[in-house]
Amino acid sequence: MPQIRLDSVSKYFMQEGRKNYAIRQVDLTIEQGEFIFVTGSSGAGKSTLLKLITGELRPDQGKAYVNNMDVVRLARWGLLRRRNYFGYVPQLPQLIRRRTIGQNLEQVIMANRRRLDGTVEERVQKALAMVGLRDVIDRYPVELSQGQCRQVELARAIITSPPILVLDELTANLDEDAIWDSFHLLEELNHRGTTVIMATHAKMFVNMMRKRVITLVDGSIFGDVPKGRYGDVLSNRDDGTAARG
Ligand code: ADP
Repeated sequence: MPQIRLDSVSKYFMQEGRKNYAIRQVDLTIEQGEFIFVTGSSGAGKSTLLKLITGELRPDQGKAYVNNMDVVRLARWGLLRRRNYFGYVPQLPQLIRRRTIGQNLEQVIMANRRRLDGTVEERVQKALAMVGLRDVIDRYPVELSQGQCRQVELARAIITSPPILVLDELTANLDEDAIWDSFHLLEELNHRGTTVIMATHAKMFVNMMRKRVITLVDGSIFGDVPKGRYGDVLSNRDDGTAARG
C-alpha cells in the first residue's frame, strides 16, 4: 500500500521578482493508514504541502514519492490516473455547475481505471448516503448550500475508494453537526485502512480526535506530534512530549 515520502522538498512562487518560499526543505513520511491533521495559520503552506503530495504542484527542490514513485511522474499521468491513488478535496470548490450532483460524481467513476464493485448508480447513491445527502442527486450545485457542496466534494473524493484522502479545509462552511459527521466518516474509512491527510482550522475537533498533528510555520514543519493537539510542537526534550505552540 502507498507510502508518502517527501525528501527535503521546497516550493516557491515568484513575487515581485523574488522567490517566496511556500514550503522549505520539508522531510516527511506518511505510512499507509495514518490519520494526519495539517495545521498552521493562513499562508503557512498547508495547501501547497497537500498539492505537492498529490502532484498538483512539482517541487522546486527535493523529491516527493508515493509508493516509491516520484510524484512528478504521477503528475505527468494527469488528474485521472492520479485519482487511482488520491481522493482530493481542494480548498476551492470544483463541482461542475452545469451538471447535476449525480453527474458530477459519475464523472469520477467513469474516469477511474481500477475495477470497482457495483454499478455507477449504486456507487453514486452509496457515496452520497455516506455523507448524509441522499436527496441531492438530481440537483445542481447552485441549489445546495456551501456546506452541502463541501460534503458532495467529500463524496466525490471517496466514491472510488482511493487508498489516500487529501482534504483541504473540508470543514470550512460546515456546521458543527456536519463536521462531526464528516470526521466520524473519515475515522471509519481510516479504520478500514485509508490514509487521511487533512488541513484544517477546526481546533476543537483536532483536539478531540488526537491524531498525528503536523504544524507548519512559514513553510517549515514546526511540530509533528502523534496523538497531538492543535498547534502542538515537540519540546526540546527528545522524549516525544509535546508543548503548545
Ligand atoms: P495555507 O494553505 O497555509 O494558507 P498556502 O500553501 O496557500 O498556505 O500558501 C503559502 C504561501 O505561498 C503564501 O505566502 C501564499 O501567498 C503563497 N502562494 C500559494 N500559492 C501561490 C500561487 N499560486 N502563486 C503565488 N503565491 C502562492
